[in-house]
Amino acid sequence: VATLSGRIAVVTAAGQGIGRASARAFAAAGATVHAADINGDALATLRGEANIHPVRLDVLDAEAVAAFFAGVGRVDILFNCAGVVHGGTVLEVTDADLDFAFDLNVRAMIRTIQAVLPGMLERGDGSIINMASIASSAKGVANRCAYGVTKAAVIGLTKSVAADYVARGIRCNAICPGTVESPSLESRMRALGDYEEARAAFIARQPMGRLGTPEEIADLAVYLAGATYTTGQALGIDGGWSI
Ligand code: NAD
Repeated sequence: VATLSGRIAVVTAAGQGIGRASARAFAAAGATVHAADINGDALATLRGEANIHPVRLDVLDAEAVAAFFAGVGRVDILFNCAGVVHGGTVLEVTDADLDFAFDLNVRAMIRTIQAVLPGMLERGDGSIINMASIASSAKGVANRCAYGVTKAAVIGLTKSVAADYVARGIRCNAICPGTVESPSLESRMRALGDYEEARAAFIARQPMGRLGTPEEIADLAVYLAGATYTTGQALGIDGGWSI
Protein backbone atom coordinates (compact mmCIF):
# COMPACT_ATOMS: atom_id res chain seq x y z
CA VAL A 1 0.00 0.00 0.00
CA ALA A 2 1.48 3.37 -1.01
CA THR A 3 1.14 5.41 2.18
CA LEU A 4 3.25 8.36 1.05
CA SER A 5 1.66 8.89 -2.31
CA GLY A 6 2.14 12.44 -3.62
CA ARG A 7 4.48 13.40 -0.78
CA ILE A 8 7.86 15.04 -1.35
CA ALA A 9 10.69 13.82 0.87
CA VAL A 10 14.28 14.84 1.50
CA VAL A 11 16.64 12.27 3.02
CA THR A 12 20.20 13.20 4.04
CA ALA A 13 23.00 10.62 4.13
CA ALA A 14 21.00 8.75 1.51
CA GLY A 15 24.02 7.27 -0.26
CA GLN A 16 24.39 4.23 1.98
CA GLY A 17 23.17 2.48 5.13
CA ILE A 18 19.94 3.53 6.82
CA GLY A 19 19.54 6.70 4.73
CA ARG A 20 19.75 4.77 1.47
CA ALA A 21 17.29 2.11 2.64
CA SER A 22 14.92 4.85 3.80
CA ALA A 23 15.09 6.76 0.51
CA ARG A 24 14.19 3.53 -1.29
CA ALA A 25 11.40 2.71 1.20
CA PHE A 26 9.90 6.23 0.94
CA ALA A 27 9.91 5.90 -2.86
CA ALA A 28 8.36 2.42 -2.68
CA ALA A 29 5.63 3.90 -0.48
CA GLY A 30 4.83 6.45 -3.19
CA ALA A 31 6.89 9.52 -2.26
CA THR A 32 9.11 11.56 -4.55
CA VAL A 33 12.50 11.47 -2.85
CA HIS A 34 15.44 13.87 -3.00
CA ALA A 35 18.30 11.65 -1.86
CA ALA A 36 21.16 13.83 -0.62
CA ASP A 37 24.67 12.73 0.28
CA ILE A 38 28.18 14.19 0.23
CA ASN A 39 29.45 11.05 -1.51
CA GLY A 40 28.62 11.11 -5.21
CA ASP A 41 29.89 7.55 -5.78
CA ALA A 42 27.52 6.18 -3.15
CA LEU A 43 24.64 8.14 -4.70
CA ALA A 44 25.38 6.64 -8.10
CA THR A 45 23.94 3.34 -6.83
CA LEU A 46 20.53 5.07 -6.61
CA ARG A 47 20.60 6.48 -10.13
CA GLY A 48 17.70 5.25 -12.26
CA GLU A 49 15.56 4.16 -9.31
CA ALA A 50 11.95 5.27 -9.75
CA ASN A 51 10.97 8.46 -7.90
CA ILE A 52 14.47 8.98 -6.45
CA HIS A 53 16.49 12.09 -7.33
CA PRO A 54 20.07 11.73 -6.08
CA VAL A 55 21.79 15.02 -5.24
CA ARG A 56 25.30 15.67 -4.02
CA LEU A 57 25.06 17.82 -0.89
CA ASP A 58 27.33 18.46 2.08
CA VAL A 59 24.94 19.18 4.94
CA LEU A 60 27.76 21.07 6.73
CA ASP A 61 27.81 23.67 3.96
CA ALA A 62 25.15 26.17 5.03
CA GLU A 63 25.08 28.00 1.69
CA ALA A 64 24.75 24.79 -0.30
CA VAL A 65 21.98 23.59 2.02
CA ALA A 66 20.04 26.85 1.60
CA ALA A 67 20.44 26.72 -2.20
CA PHE A 68 19.39 23.06 -2.31
CA PHE A 69 16.17 23.59 -0.33
CA ALA A 70 15.35 26.76 -2.30
CA GLY A 71 15.60 24.65 -5.46
CA VAL A 72 13.51 21.77 -4.12
CA GLY A 73 10.63 23.99 -3.00
CA ARG A 74 7.93 22.02 -1.20
CA VAL A 75 9.09 19.40 1.30
CA ASP A 76 6.51 17.30 3.18
CA ILE A 77 8.94 14.89 4.83
CA LEU A 78 12.45 15.64 6.06
CA PHE A 79 14.60 12.77 7.27
CA ASN A 80 17.79 14.11 8.83
CA CYS A 81 19.90 10.96 8.76
CA ALA A 82 23.47 12.27 8.44
CA GLY A 83 25.62 11.62 11.48
CA VAL A 84 29.11 10.68 12.62
CA VAL A 85 30.39 8.25 15.27
CA HIS A 86 33.45 9.18 17.32
CA GLY A 87 35.01 6.71 19.75
CA GLY A 88 36.36 7.74 23.15
CA THR A 89 35.48 8.47 26.75
CA VAL A 90 35.00 11.90 28.31
CA LEU A 91 38.74 11.92 29.15
CA GLU A 92 39.65 11.22 25.55
CA VAL A 93 37.21 13.41 23.64
CA THR A 94 38.87 16.34 21.89
CA ASP A 95 37.43 19.77 21.16
CA ALA A 96 37.81 19.00 17.46
CA ASP A 97 35.77 15.78 17.75
CA LEU A 98 33.12 17.54 19.81
CA ASP A 99 32.90 20.43 17.33
CA PHE A 100 32.59 18.06 14.40
CA ALA A 101 30.01 15.87 16.15
CA PHE A 102 27.90 18.92 17.11
CA ASP A 103 28.23 20.36 13.59
CA LEU A 104 27.14 17.20 11.77
CA ASN A 105 24.89 15.48 14.29
CA VAL A 106 23.10 18.59 15.58
CA ARG A 107 23.70 21.94 13.82
CA ALA A 108 23.24 20.52 10.33
CA MET A 109 19.83 19.17 11.41
CA ILE A 110 18.84 22.54 12.82
CA ARG A 111 19.71 24.22 9.50
CA THR A 112 17.69 21.76 7.37
CA ILE A 113 14.74 22.11 9.75
CA GLN A 114 15.00 25.91 9.49
CA ALA A 115 14.93 25.52 5.71
CA VAL A 116 11.77 23.36 5.49
CA LEU A 117 9.72 24.52 8.46
CA PRO A 118 8.37 27.84 7.09
CA GLY A 119 6.85 26.05 4.07
CA MET A 120 5.47 23.25 6.26
CA LEU A 121 3.86 25.84 8.54
CA GLU A 122 2.34 27.64 5.59
CA ARG A 123 0.73 24.37 4.46
CA GLY A 124 -0.04 23.31 8.04
CA ASP A 125 1.54 19.93 7.47
CA GLY A 126 4.94 18.28 7.72
CA SER A 127 6.82 15.33 9.18
CA ILE A 128 10.40 15.75 10.39
CA ILE A 129 12.41 12.71 11.41
CA ASN A 130 15.80 13.07 13.11
CA MET A 131 18.30 10.25 13.41
CA ALA A 132 19.36 9.84 17.03
CA SER A 133 20.56 6.56 18.55
CA ILE A 134 19.98 4.38 21.57
CA ALA A 135 23.46 5.66 22.53
CA SER A 136 22.08 9.04 23.70
CA SER A 137 19.94 10.05 26.65
CA ALA A 138 18.24 6.66 26.16
CA LYS A 139 21.29 4.60 27.16
CA GLY A 140 24.90 5.14 28.18
CA VAL A 141 27.23 3.28 25.85
CA ALA A 142 30.91 2.80 26.65
CA ASN A 143 33.45 4.72 24.58
CA ARG A 144 30.88 6.89 22.82
CA CYS A 145 31.09 10.24 24.64
CA ALA A 146 30.88 12.74 21.75
CA TYR A 147 28.37 10.51 20.01
CA GLY A 148 26.11 9.99 23.03
CA VAL A 149 26.20 13.69 23.95
CA THR A 150 25.24 14.83 20.46
CA LYS A 151 22.61 12.14 19.89
CA ALA A 152 21.02 13.15 23.22
CA ALA A 153 20.95 16.69 21.80
CA VAL A 154 19.11 15.35 18.74
CA ILE A 155 16.37 14.08 21.07
CA GLY A 156 16.24 17.50 22.76
CA LEU A 157 15.99 19.20 19.36
CA THR A 158 13.23 16.80 18.30
CA LYS A 159 11.15 17.48 21.40
CA SER A 160 11.71 21.23 21.08
CA VAL A 161 10.43 21.32 17.47
CA ALA A 162 7.55 19.00 18.37
CA ALA A 163 6.52 21.19 21.33
CA ASP A 164 6.67 24.46 19.42
CA TYR A 165 4.65 23.31 16.42
CA VAL A 166 2.40 20.52 17.69
CA ALA A 167 -0.76 22.57 17.12
CA ARG A 168 0.28 23.69 13.64
CA GLY A 169 0.37 20.39 11.77
CA ILE A 170 4.05 19.54 12.28
CA ARG A 171 5.21 16.17 13.63
CA CYS A 172 8.82 15.77 14.70
CA ASN A 173 10.18 12.45 15.93
CA ALA A 174 13.56 10.81 16.49
CA ILE A 175 14.68 7.29 15.67
CA CYS A 176 16.98 5.52 18.12
CA PRO A 177 18.49 2.42 16.54
CA GLY A 178 20.64 -0.17 18.24
CA THR A 179 23.48 -1.65 16.20
CA VAL A 180 22.66 -1.72 12.51
CA GLU A 181 24.54 -3.36 9.65
CA SER A 182 25.94 -0.49 7.53
CA PRO A 183 29.12 0.47 5.65
CA SER A 184 30.33 2.71 8.48
CA LEU A 185 29.71 -0.02 11.06
CA GLU A 186 31.76 -2.34 8.84
CA SER A 187 34.63 0.20 8.88
CA ARG A 188 34.38 0.57 12.65
CA MET A 189 34.60 -3.22 13.05
CA ARG A 190 37.60 -3.42 10.68
CA ALA A 191 39.33 -0.53 12.47
CA LEU A 192 39.27 -2.49 15.74
CA GLY A 193 41.86 -4.94 14.36
CA ASP A 194 40.37 -8.42 14.72
CA TYR A 195 37.28 -8.15 12.50
CA GLU A 196 35.61 -11.40 13.61
CA GLU A 197 36.12 -10.59 17.28
CA ALA A 198 34.78 -7.05 16.81
CA ARG A 199 31.74 -8.31 14.93
CA ALA A 200 31.03 -10.90 17.63
CA ALA A 201 31.25 -8.17 20.29
CA PHE A 202 28.81 -5.88 18.43
CA ILE A 203 26.40 -8.81 18.01
CA ALA A 204 26.80 -9.86 21.64
CA ARG A 205 25.45 -6.52 22.88
CA GLN A 206 22.24 -7.05 20.89
CA PRO A 207 19.97 -9.34 22.98
CA MET A 208 18.29 -10.69 19.82
CA GLY A 209 21.66 -12.12 18.84
CA ARG A 210 21.92 -10.26 15.56
CA LEU A 211 22.48 -6.79 14.12
CA GLY A 212 19.57 -4.78 12.77
CA THR A 213 19.19 -4.16 9.05
CA PRO A 214 18.88 -0.73 7.40
CA GLU A 215 15.54 -1.91 5.96
CA GLU A 216 14.15 -2.54 9.46
CA ILE A 217 14.98 1.04 10.43
CA ALA A 218 13.58 2.33 7.11
CA ASP A 219 10.22 0.71 7.97
CA LEU A 220 10.03 2.91 11.07
CA ALA A 221 11.00 5.98 9.03
CA VAL A 222 8.13 5.26 6.62
CA TYR A 223 5.75 4.89 9.54
CA LEU A 224 6.87 8.21 11.05
CA ALA A 225 6.76 9.97 7.68
CA GLY A 226 3.07 9.12 7.41
CA ALA A 227 2.15 9.15 11.10
CA THR A 228 -0.50 11.69 12.05
CA TYR A 229 -0.78 11.22 15.84
CA THR A 230 2.84 10.64 16.88
CA THR A 231 5.10 13.58 17.73
CA GLY A 232 7.96 14.42 20.06
CA GLN A 233 8.88 10.77 20.46
CA ALA A 234 12.29 9.14 20.49
CA LEU A 235 11.45 5.68 19.22
CA GLY A 236 13.79 2.85 20.11
CA ILE A 237 14.40 0.18 17.46
CA ASP A 238 17.26 -1.69 18.97
CA GLY A 239 16.79 -5.46 19.04
CA GLY A 240 16.12 -5.28 22.76
CA TRP A 241 19.34 -3.48 23.73
CA SER A 242 17.51 -1.03 25.98
CA ILE A 243 15.04 -3.42 27.61
P1 NAD B 1 26.77 5.25 7.25
O1 NAD B 1 27.42 5.90 8.42
O2 NAD B 1 27.39 4.02 6.72
O3 NAD B 1 26.63 6.30 6.06
C1 NAD B 1 26.48 7.65 6.34
C2 NAD B 1 26.29 8.43 5.05
O4 NAD B 1 26.31 9.81 5.40
C3 NAD B 1 27.39 8.21 4.03
O5 NAD B 1 26.84 7.91 2.76
C4 NAD B 1 28.11 9.56 4.00
O6 NAD B 1 28.66 9.90 2.73
C5 NAD B 1 26.99 10.52 4.41
N1 NAD B 1 27.50 11.77 4.94
C6 NAD B 1 28.51 11.93 5.83
N2 NAD B 1 28.76 13.24 6.02
C7 NAD B 1 27.86 13.91 5.25
C8 NAD B 1 27.63 15.30 5.02
N3 NAD B 1 28.38 16.24 5.61
N4 NAD B 1 26.65 15.64 4.17
C9 NAD B 1 25.88 14.69 3.55
N5 NAD B 1 26.08 13.38 3.72
C10 NAD B 1 27.06 13.00 4.58
O7 NAD B 1 25.22 5.00 7.58
P2 NAD B 1 24.51 4.44 8.89
O8 NAD B 1 25.46 3.64 9.73
O9 NAD B 1 23.25 3.85 8.43
O10 NAD B 1 24.22 5.77 9.77
C11 NAD B 1 23.23 6.70 9.39
C12 NAD B 1 22.75 7.42 10.64
O11 NAD B 1 22.23 6.47 11.55
C13 NAD B 1 23.82 8.21 11.40
O12 NAD B 1 23.26 9.41 11.90
C14 NAD B 1 24.16 7.28 12.55
O13 NAD B 1 24.67 7.96 13.67
C15 NAD B 1 22.82 6.66 12.82
N6 NAD B 1 22.88 5.39 13.55
C16 NAD B 1 23.52 4.33 13.00
C17 NAD B 1 23.59 3.14 13.72
C18 NAD B 1 24.30 1.93 13.18
O14 NAD B 1 24.54 0.98 13.95
N7 NAD B 1 24.64 1.86 11.90
C19 NAD B 1 22.99 3.04 14.98
C20 NAD B 1 22.33 4.15 15.51
C21 NAD B 1 22.28 5.33 14.78
